[in-house]
Amino acid sequence: MIAVEKAWRLIDENAFALEQFETRRVTEALGFVLFEPVVSPMHLPPFRQSAMDGFALCNHQHSIYTLVGEVKAGDAPGITLKNGEAVRIFTGAVVPDTATAVVMQEKTKVDGTQLEILGVVEAGQNIRPLGEQVQEGDTALKQGALLTPAALGFLSSIGIQEVKVFKKPTVAIVGTGNELTDLGQPLAKGKIYESNTIMLGTSLCALGCYDPTIYRVADTYEQTVDTIGKALEAHDMVLISGGISVGDYDFVGKALDALSVNPVFYKVNQKPGKPLFFGKKDEKVVFALPGNPAAALTCFYLYVYPAFRRMSGETNFQLQWTLERSASACIKNGNRAQFFKALSAEGKVRILEGQSSAMLQTFALANALVYVPAEVSEITKGTPLKVWHLPN
Ligand code: AMP
Ligand code: MG
Repeated sequence: MIAVEKAWRLIDENAFALEQFETRRVTEALGFVLFEPVVSPMHLPPFRQSAMDGFALCNHQHSIYTLVGEVKAGDAPGITLKNGEAVRIFTGAVVPDTATAVVMQEKTKVDGTQLEILGVVEAGQNIRPLGEQVQEGDTALKQGALLTPAALGFLSSIGIQEVKVFKKPTVAIVGTGNELTDLGQPLAKGKIYESNTIMLGTSLCALGCYDPTIYRVADTYEQTVDTIGKALEAHDMVLISGGISVGDYDFVGKALDALSVNPVFYKVNQKPGKPLFFGKKDEKVVFALPGNPAAALTCFYLYVYPAFRRMSGETNFQLQWTLERSASACIKNGNRAQFFKALSAEGKVRILEGQSSAMLQTFALANALVYVPAEVSEITKGTPLKVWHLPN
């Protein structure tokens, strides 16, 4: 059994970005990571641009100008302003070449074609210089940049339609258990509805992996070997739910052994999720998660989530955490580290009732996991706690 910190380290040392790229349209690249830098094909802005609704002035030191026209956004003005002349101009419009400043309309007085300036105008004021954001030929975004909505908007503004991104790992989810019944089927005595593959599959959706292949197996050795074998052949990452404990009908460990998956670790000194397995076969990674739903999801967020993001080329792959004071008191039994389902709000965190590893309802109410290290046994109100914030 290894410590939580060691499990994290071993995952970092064993899950790497796939060195493969794909080309995606910017509208379909959210959450992907740039495989190579994007060099700007143009200046942004592509012309000297007005940052205000106001007046463009030729030689900004005068106090009275003659108005000679108007330029609105989208116009290609042919106007050449002479000294002492001005044009009405609007935000985003081309500033005429000989204009030296734009004065906002609130600081002017207009009388017919005469413009009076109230106050001092500085050179270049309210003019966005050509290429102010990025110059043609310069790096617009570096290799490794995460494509957020802002990044995709920025790339669109320099005319980029497609980007070369790291391929995300393909994922298989294998749900094991004789007791599992698919949604829509009547529930016979002794059976339960299958929820883990749905929960893990939708967690992956939030990471931009929309099409994991779902397999289901009964608790037999042959089926378990056969199905995990198929999953391994076709996918970069295999997530297995259940069957990894020491019961007589838990066949996942034996199957992974038979399939020559090399164990990196098995069992973490934590609650929930002690029987977590992480292994590799060549470059493929395998997580065998405990079947208890809340334990499976805890292990997903703490271990699979960062591994998936890392394999997708992300460099900032862990869940975010903060230190927050406890709004409740709580006893931690035993000497394992514990992840408590909790609700964080307004800088404080409350550990929720109902921490059993079978209880998903508590998880559904939580927005955070509180990490209590192995050696701590009691939390009093006001204790600073390490709070891992769950993505939604
Ligand atoms: P196991 O790890 O296979 O011993 O399963 C532990 C507990 O989790 C048992 O109560 C199982 O019925 C339950 N369980 C296992 N897999 C699933 C699943 N896919 N959906 C819902 N519950 C599950
Ligand atoms: Mg089972």
